[in-house]
Amino acid sequence: MSFTAPIFDIQRFSLHDGPGIRSLVFLKGCPLHCSWCQNPESQNRAAVIAFYRDRCAEHFECEAACEEGAIQRDGFRIDQQKCTLCGSCVEACPSGALRLIGEQHTPDQLMEKLRADFPYFARSGGGVTFTGGEPTLYPSFIERVLDLCSTESIHTNIETAGLFSLERWKSILPKFDLIYFDLKLLDPEQHAHHLGPGFETVHANAIALSEIKLPIEFRMPVIPGITDTEDNIDAVARLLQQMGKPSIHLLAYHNMGEAKIDIIEGSQPRLGLARLSDERLAEVQNSFRERGIEVLGNDG
Ligand code: SF4
Ligand code: SF4
Repeated sequence: MSFTAPIFDIQRFSLHDGPGIRSLVFLKGCPLHCSWCQNPESQNRAAVIAFYRDRCAEHFECEAACEEGAIQRDGFRIDQQKCTLCGSCVEACPSGALRLIGEQHTPDQLMEKLRADFPYFARSGGGVTFTGGEPTLYPSFIERVLDLCSTESIHTNIETAGLFSLERWKSILPKFDLIYFDLKLLDPEQHAHHLGPGFETVHANAIALSEIKLPIEFRMPVIPGITDTEDNIDAVARLLQQMGKPSIHLLAYHNMGEAKIDIIEGSQPRLGLARLSDERLAEVQNSFRERGIEVLGNDG
């Protein structure tokens, strides 16, 4: 059991992803590999040095700081075989062009970073949202943070794609004030093609959680030509009706994730999709409403 977890970002003052003013804790690592992933830096559990080319002044203080010879000037690449993730280059860079993402945190270290936001949570009814990546990869860590949040009366939310062991999570999930559960593709072959493994588990977990009456809200990312087909909307709407949960949050696709692939020298293919238009989003909303599903909101 691990009581640390790799965090790749903490976004403060978010007005999305739950009520009030929130701090979003992004955990690194995911068992799925959505073809449209908007946080590709989250997929791999391992830490990585991210390089923001547009900030680089090309004075190469980083190269001088690297004792491993891992920084290659030609085309500016970090040789991942040589890099020990020591962080010296990050400290040496005066331009903020390098960042170590995925640092391990204990629950207490995370709470210390969140502490400055407690007054905002209290005034706004906000709190902490665990996202990623897939936060359910870290049950021991999250359970401890939940207990610490509970002693501070902080609202907690988790965003999950649903691929987790219910056996492991069934005692932890009731500790959340809110659970956002993503329904993406309800055709097993489409799921396997675009997301990877776990269709049966995701499907079974959605039904199981709705049956044990947890504070769960379902969401669907609207990905043009992939999740917004009439067949998929129909299947999602039927499942929501079957579960007695006839409402959905829609998450409009934007393509900013593709730019991040270069930052981490990722290898995932680019979809090359344009962001979802307002007109198409309105059509998808109507498709759900025609099937008796309430559309709760649209977050990007
Ligand atoms: S130290 Fe920073 S700004 Fe300078 S070359 Fe390296 S990454 Fe670019
Ligand atoms: S993290 Fe350390 S080993 Fe890796 S590139 Fe930077 S200085 Fe070199």
